[in-house]
Amino acid sequence: MSRPVLLHGGPLFTADRRRPWAEAVAFDTNGILAVGTMQEVAAAAPNAERVDVAGGTVVPGLIDAHNHFLATGESLASIDVRFPRVRSIGDLIASIAEAAARTPAGSVIRAFGFDHAKYERTPTRWDLDGATSDHAVLVYHVSGHHVLVNTRMLERRGVTDDTPDPSGGELVRDEAGRLTGLCLDGAMGLVLPVAVDIGNHGPNFHTEAPLAELVDDVERAGRAFLAAGLTTVCDAQVTSRELTAYREARAAGRLPIRTVAMPLSHQLDAYASVGIAGPLGDDILRIGAMKLYADGSLIGGTAAFSEPYGAAGEFEGSLYWDDEDMRALLGRAHGHGWQVGVHVQGDRAMQIVLDAIDDAVRRSPREHRHRLEHAGFPTPEHVRRMADLGVITVNQPRYLHDSGDEFLERLGERAHRLIPLREELDAGVLVVLSSDSDVASYRPMDTISSAMLRRTRAGAFIGSDQVLTLEEALYAHTIDAARALFLEDRLGSLEPGKLADIAVFDQDLTRTPAEELAGLEARMTFLGGRLEQGSVRSGLPAG
Ligand SMILES: [Zn+2]
Repeated sequence: MSRPVLLHGGPLFTADRRRPWAEAVAFDTNGILAVGTMQEVAAAAPNAERVDVAGGTVVPGLIDAHNHFLATGESLASIDVRFPRVRSIGDLIASIAEAAARTPAGSVIRAFGFDHAKYERTPTRWDLDGATSDHAVLVYHVSGHHVLVNTRMLERRGVTDDTPDPSGGELVRDEAGRLTGLCLDGAMGLVLPVAVDIGNHGPNFHTEAPLAELVDDVERAGRAFLAAGLTTVCDAQVTSRELTAYREARAAGRLPIRTVAMPLSHQLDAYASVGIAGPLGDDILRIGAMKLYADGSLIGGTAAFSEPYGAAGEFEGSLYWDDEDMRALLGRAHGHGWQVGVHVQGDRAMQIVLDAIDDAVRRSPREHRHRLEHAGFPTPEHVRRMADLGVITVNQPRYLHDSGDEFLERLGERAHRLIPLREELDAGVLVVLSSDSDVASYRPMDTISSAMLRRTRAGAFIGSDQVLTLEEALYAHTIDAARALFLEDRLGSLEPGKLADIAVFDQDLTRTPAEELAGLEARMTFLGGRLEQGSVRSGLPAG
């Protein structure tokens, strides 16, 4: 057994609502031994190695309840075309051309994160053809809901001007009816070299890649997450491709972080046939809620609002299911014992989802903890229903920074009620913060900063009456995120008996302006009592 460690010397947030702040914590690889005053903890763990955090802050290991773990690893290894690195179509073409120059002809070039709301116009396949015709090119939209491909990729997949739009998606065409190469939501599966057929259950970004490469991606992203202070992440859209990669990474000792997988709803019947429903698994790798999609992307302009958005009402939104289909699908998942997590942005989609949950729960009541992923624009009535139904919202306030200026432009006054966290907390809804990486930054301190500030990239306020305090944001990224994963008995707070997942930041977070929280990484991250990241810079030997 390892020698216990005792952390002291800075603010210590426990995420235990009975005693949110303490002076010290002692732990070993079996779990947390004591939390409290220095005197109490020293008495409980007299032979612990004492580590003075020198004014830094100790928090429970942060939990990201909605993060595209493997996709983040892939994006870290791919061409980064996110704003502000790429600000125009010219920048986009230059990035692809540069990659083409060092990539063997005939192979696929992948880029992540384009955001054409910030360009002069929407890019087309002809723009990409200008960068290379020797490679198939696919460029993911920052939302993950759309992809832009070049002509060679369309040809490779046999998609032509005569190919009809699939349900839940659109192949965008010009006035002459020619494909522009932009494929929205459910149409992604038609043009990508997909590894898994998911039907119209969501956007398909599960492309072919060798397993060894996927394991590299998992390890790469997992290491980055630990450095940011995360100790648990939940992949919010998992097919056989992702689950195989996580299992393989674990077997090889290359899964650096606790991982929860949310299977996508196209697998519902397969899981039901063998009697599996989440949550199931252990503290390292487990199956969580089942993921369903209700509507499209807020950033990408396909979220379903009751009143279309955009300056000319051009964003009508798209639904993956009508209300009857959603009721049937969600009802079946609930009936088989699943917790569900439903992607839902606009109020039109929200109405359909809440009706479906209401119906399912009425038929067979239980502690379901159903989750609303993103929950972009619930009405005040929807917020009341969330509280009554006991559903959890899993929110990404970093969007307000990254795309808030477009939201204000497209939604006008309505933008201020996007992600209404204050209203939800006041109504008694369990509110969880997460990143949606790689749609937004995986760093929890970026997310927390945006929840406290609600300011756009250009500096405008967006719903400033909905801001959270540091303490509220920390609860939402620790213990309440653990609750959304049915893991609060072991993770999420610093309490005796729980697993010792702990992050230490250099700064006194209670005195750091919210603007300056963005970008912070952890000095040390302990997972299960082991220092997995960083170093013990100022440790005093035990007496
Ligand atoms: Zn997501």
